Amino acid sequence: MSCESVERDLDAYLDRELDAESSAGVREHVRSCASCRRQLAQRESLARLVRAAPYYSPPDRLRTRVLVQTTRSQSVRRIFTWAAAAVLVLSVGAGITLWRPAPGRGDVIADEVVNGHVRSLMANHLFDVQSTDRHTVKPWFLGKLDFSPPVIDLASIGFPLVGGRLDYVGGRSVAALVYQRQKHTINVFISPEGDDRSTRDLVLTARGFNLRHWIHNGMSFWAVSDLNSAELSEFTSALRSS
Ligand SMILES: [Zn+2]
Repeated sequence: MSCESVERDLDAYLDRELDAESSAGVREHVRSCASCRRQLAQRESLARLVRAAPYYSPPDRLRTRVLVQTTRSQSVRRIFTWAAAAVLVLSVGAGITLWRPAPGRGDVIADEVVNGHVRSLMANHLFDVQSTDRHTVKPWFLGKLDFSPPVIDLASIGFPLVGGRLDYVGGRSVAALVYQRQKHTINVFISPEGDDRSTRDLVLTARGFNLRHWIHNGMSFWAVSDLNSAELSEFTSALRSS
């Protein structure tokens, strides 16, 4: 199956409208094609968001209405379904998440964030400074970066800070703080806001990892982990309100 046909069938695949053979074709292609896998993950995370969004009537009802109204062709119908979903996500928004059909700066950074996370675990280079004491971790960055990252310990709610290191994301040196949740590692990449033009909050899944992005006090934050989405949200909202 080619990337083009996978792309064409992706929505139908997610909507479980493909026959078994085409479904298997998409699944098989996505296993070996990173770019289509990314697309699928983006669609899935949008679908999840729509399902999880508050103030929102059941998606099935909306879908039924959209389907009834647009009977012309499958593709028109799908465009309407996804467009309606996207509009809903945006209107529910109050800064929750942005979904963009074309890859934007945020997606590129997200990819680098995942790379940084994987690299830190694979190369056994998680720490330059290994300490649960933020008064040790924060000063360590002094003189190594042209900014001072906020260093917060969340041990009291089960997300202990375990260290930090320098990393490289989006073409610049960034602070990476490392947190632990049981067996899971959370990397938080911090850099000054100006370098990262995506100012909106992002909730993403990429290559099986959960990602969160937000801007706070002039700093851009990216959190990434294999931790489940709910616990990562708990972590990031605690970090944001600290
Ligand atoms: Zn492909």
